[in-house]
Order: sequence, then C-alpha cells, then structure tokens
Amino acid sequence: MKKKEKDLARELMLKRLLDDKKKELLRRLYQDAVFEKLGRNYKTEFERGMDTADWSVVDGIQSLGLKLVDIRQDELIKMNEAQRKLEEGSYGICEECGEEIGEQRLRAMVYAIHCLQCATENEQRRKQGI
Ligand SMILES: [Zn+2]
Repeated sequence: MKKKEKDLARELMLKRLLDDKKKELLRRLYQDAVFEKLGRNYKTEFERGMDTADWSVVDGIQSLGLKLVDIRQDELIKMNEAQRKLEEGSYGICEECGEEIGEQRLRAMVYAIHCLQCATENEQRRKQGI
C-alpha cells in the first residue's frame, strides 16, 4: 500500500514536471517563431494556447507557414516521446537498468532516459572508446 502511494505521488510529480517543461518549450517556440518573425499581432492567440500548454500552439505556428524543422524540432520530438512514456508508465525509468531515475536528475534533464549511474558508465565507456 505504501509503495503504491509513493508511485502515485511520483507519477503526479513527473506529470507536473513534463507539463511545466512543455509550457516552457512552447513558450520558447512561440518566442522564436512568432514573436520575432511576425510581431505582436499573434500574441494573444498564442498566449491563449499557452495557458493550457496545448499543442495547438504548434499547429498554429505551422499553419502560419513557419517550419519547425529548425526550431526546436529535436526538443519537440523528445517531449512527445517523454509524454508517450508517461502515458504508458515508463517515463522516469532507466532504459538500461530499469531503476527509477532520480527526481533531481529529471528536473535538470527532463528527457533523461538513463539513471545517473548508467549515464556515467556509458560516458566512461565512450571516453575509453569501448
Ligand atoms: Zn540505469
């Protein structure tokens, strides 16, 4: 029972963390793509989407004919992947050892797919060229 409660708390924390990061990402997307290129006319429209951290912001940017290829495409893909994992319950789990990735690490690196220990070991192996 205790463990179940802990899992739920963590799940909620992770969901909030991803929601926050998504809002931040959308806000930066908006600033990059719209604010600089199109000026302030679209501000209200995009801020409305931002309140709900809605992907319609992205659709909106695309419908304005702006390509997202250069603008944080990589981050969007990672964010989508993280959300997919969250939905299937595997977000925050190390892909290598299956242990939970620490909250601190996820906060610093929301797309982390390896726990600190595995990431460190991978890095060492990479440096040694193994
Ligand atoms: Zn690991």
